[in-house]
Amino acid sequence: MIPSELVDTFGRVHDYLRISVTDRCNLRCVYCMPADGMEFEPDENILSIKEITEVVRVMADMGVKKVRLTGGEPLVRKGIENLVSAIAGIPGIDDIAMTTNGIFLARKAQKLKEAGLNRVNISLDTLKADRFSLITRGGDVQRVLDSIAACQQVGIEPIKLNVVLMKGINDDEIEDFLQLTIDSQLQVRFIEYMPIGHNDLRWKQSYLPLSTVLERCHHLGWKVAASHHVRGNGPAQTFRIEGAKGSFGLIHPVSDHFCETCNRLRLTADGNIKPCLYWSDEFNVRKCIGNDDAVRELFSRALHIKPLNHEMAKAFVDESQTHVPTVRRMSQIGG
Ligand code: SAM
Ligand code: SF4
Repeated sequence: MIPSELVDTFGRVHDYLRISVTDRCNLRCVYCMPADGMEFEPDENILSIKEITEVVRVMADMGVKKVRLTGGEPLVRKGIENLVSAIAGIPGIDDIAMTTNGIFLARKAQKLKEAGLNRVNISLDTLKADRFSLITRGGDVQRVLDSIAACQQVGIEPIKLNVVLMKGINDDEIEDFLQLTIDSQLQVRFIEYMPIGHNDLRWKQSYLPLSTVLERCHHLGWKVAASHHVRGNGPAQTFRIEGAKGSFGLIHPVSDHFCETCNRLRLTADGNIKPCLYWSDEFNVRKCIGNDDAVRELFSRALHIKPLNHEMAKAFVDESQTHVPTVRRMSQIGG
């Protein structure tokens, strides 16, 4: 096996690239984007499908094995199936996943599967139609539920549901989401609300640590065991309720970060390599595309300055952070 070139100064091997294919989105989730006034990158600043494919080809040669397509909303990007298919054809890439809000997924599931998409994470913070419309500022939850069914039908599995837990907004649905894992093979991943890119009262008011989920299981008398058998788990601590068909995961970057095992690099839609989700350091790769050595050199530089950990827990609490936090919103990074 060729040794990976993507090792940072703390010895962490990076084999996972998350690519934001657009900063645009058909929704405006309250924790991710403002209701209006969002400025989007002009089309000419966005990496073309050919450019993204070129970057992945070099990265695969350096040791990347897994790619996740995200956004903004990846399914508003024209030609997304072509991108999936081009990446699937790159030697060394053995897993292609997507994070999507699911609104346009039902009608694209079959084509994406044929193109080589292995797995999806679908964001779904509530099962209630009126609440879904409030959180997403206008989305229709039924379309997401239809997309889950479509993925099951065409065999894009496992399906993970991303649930950003927010105090006073959806924490009364923890039990309903857990019940889903008892009744179906879905994996529900609760995610802590992250203070990314905006100094927001909303975060202070709505952040909830994920210990709440296990407390809820305990309160309900449900027996929970750690589960080790879910493909592509990443940072999620996973559990299974006794007798459940599915499982649930906890992703708690704020209350208990998992940076020491970080294996991710990020590429923004406008071509910036981000070694860490939280900090502002970025390296624009666009000018290097076409020169493989220059692309390699840039990724190595990005990894060389990657800090040991983020400091989300200090956001808006303590000004003494060791680096400069990003001003990008989550929709401009990809999560
Ligand atoms: N539009 C797609 C979607 O919603 O799945 C992909 C992009 S979205 C930025 C990726 C993930 O980030 C989603 O699961 C979303 O719920 C999550 N996210 C966005 N803002 C967040 C925040 N402030 N804290 C935690 N998760 C967030
Ligand atoms: Fe769009 Fe996803 Fe952000 Fe919601 S979380 S606004 S769907 S990018």
